Amino acid sequence: MKELEFLKQLTGSLSIPAGGNPTVAMVEAAYEHHGLPWRYINFEVSPENLADAVRGVRALGFAGFNCSLPHKVAVIEHLDGLGESAAVMQAVNCVVRRDGRYIGENTDGKGFLKSLKGVVDPAGKNVVMFGAGGAARAIGVEVALAGATRISVVNRSQARGQELANLLNEKTSTDAVYVAWDGEYDVPDDADVVVNATSIGMHPDVDARLPVNLDTLKSGMVIADVIVSPPNTHLMKDASDRGCTVLDGIGMLVNQGVIGVKYWTGVDVDPGVMRSTIEDIFGD
Ligand code: NDP
Repeated sequence: MKELEFLKQLTGSLSIPAGGNPTVAMVEAAYEHHGLPWRYINFEVSPENLADAVRGVRALGFAGFNCSLPHKVAVIEHLDGLGESAAVMQAVNCVVRRDGRYIGENTDGKGFLKSLKGVVDPAGKNVVMFGAGGAARAIGVEVALAGATRISVVNRSQARGQELANLLNEKTSTDAVYVAWDGEYDVPDDADVVVNATSIGMHPDVDARLPVNLDTLKSGMVIADVIVSPPNTHLMKDASDRGCTVLDGIGMLVNQGVIGVKYWTGVDVDPGVMRSTIEDIFGD
């Protein structure tokens, strides 16, 4: 007789609001594609309920969970330890149960790095990054730990930009510098990788353009955008027109999902299944 197995392995996401988070769709598509008896569920959790939610996750034996806004920092005190880059950036978006201990990782930056490494190894490279928020912090730390020689943090608010540059200088061996963003920024000729880690271009403000002098984008550069909705931003189109290698935000999103699922299940899932799910949702 066929053995019955009605117990699922559980994963999910804690955030508020939770309804617009598409990770569930791509992770469940991957579970189904690979025949994994796993589930991923979005949970809407308010800050005052975070401690109880993590206790519940532990009691229910979750293999791990994603943590999205506004819990990426607050969750740390409820965990049993942090991975290397999460400890540097003091932000967690993916929790993994290892030997019964819940360890906080940050897969945003790792997802970006995996996309980037598909076209260029950042070791020894000169990186220009727009933005100094959560996404920029994750990308900056991961790219620095991967050996980028120099990171210019170009940000509108000086306080946040300087803070990120200081963090990178103190905690990694990269040479980070804050650059004030007044008007159109000229990308230096020796930049290898240029990253938009701001929210400029994100739905609904899809016509917003990054204040950057497009004539300074050169064909040898890699231009990356974190924006997922829509993925084909003005920056992606302008950089493609100039012959640059481009990386859209879907690659980062898919790869952080692939890395998270690998942490939880041990299985290398097919990124193509996840990508097509996300493209169906956000594609233009
Ligand atoms: P934050 O709010 O933490 O940071 C936003 C950043 O954008 C800040 O540096 C802010 O500058 C800058 N910014 C926003 N508007 C402007 C503007 N008009 N002019 C100049 N700078 C501006 O957001 P996150 O870092 O969490 O997210 C940023 C983007 O990354 C979002 O669109 C998010 O969806 C995307 N993202 C994509 C992921 C993926 O997997 N592809 C993963 C995570 C995030 P200032 O400091 O001056 O306010």
